[in-house]
Amino acid sequence: MTDEERRKRERKLGRQLSEIFGIHFEEMMDLLGDPPDYSKLDDEYWLRYQADLLRVLSPQLEQLFYDDFMAAAQRFGITFGVETGSADSLQFIRNYSFNLVKGITETTRKGIQDALSQFYEQGDFMLEDVAQKLYRFYSPVRAEMIASTEITRATVEGERASGRELAERYGLSIVDIWQTARDEKECELCRPRDRHIIRDGVYPPMHPRCRCGIRQEIMNEERQIEYEAGLEDAN
Ligand SMILES: [Zn+2]
Repeated sequence: MTDEERRKRERKLGRQLSEIFGIHFEEMMDLLGDPPDYSKLDDEYWLRYQADLLRVLSPQLEQLFYDDFMAAAQRFGITFGVETGSADSLQFIRNYSFNLVKGITETTRKGIQDALSQFYEQGDFMLEDVAQKLYRFYSPVRAEMIASTEITRATVEGERASGRELAERYGLSIVDIWQTARDEKECELCRPRDRHIIRDGVYPPMHPRCRCGIRQEIMNEERQIEYEAGLEDAN
């Protein structure tokens, strides 16, 4: 995926999430009432929130996962059939989208509950202050952050699934190599991992907005040792 393509996807997903956040923010403030009562945010509200997020995230992340799953194999000259292997992988990404959305929902729910308890403790507060504080969880900034981070994850997971499939099916010894997004200063955290073979099970995204990726290569153990020695020399 080119940088431009990536930005396009980020913008699209960010915009759609932002729209959903906007609608749910309004609804939440209405439900809470004045003075705000947390118990008015019933399970139904959260189920709607979750369903709307899933509706937007799931198809786009699944598509990305699938595209990168296919593209990764094609780099080794292998084309997976539409029916082969991908069923497991699609199941994987479906559970994954669902768990992701569940996580976002939980974080939001907890954040709102905590913010409101702070206001309750304080006793005297304005509804505007509450709205401003709660908006953080529904802001375009958060929407963009989620879009960026999750696009990284779906891409990397698609490639990993492809590598597992190639290893299983053809016995290829595929290694995953960390690649930082060199233009992003946010990825300073990841820089020490750049070009290293991933051996500890830690994959991008390492942090919110991480734009790192992986590169896959076929290397036997001897070649891996050589490669890593080469990295040492370069430092
Ligand atoms: Zn990174």
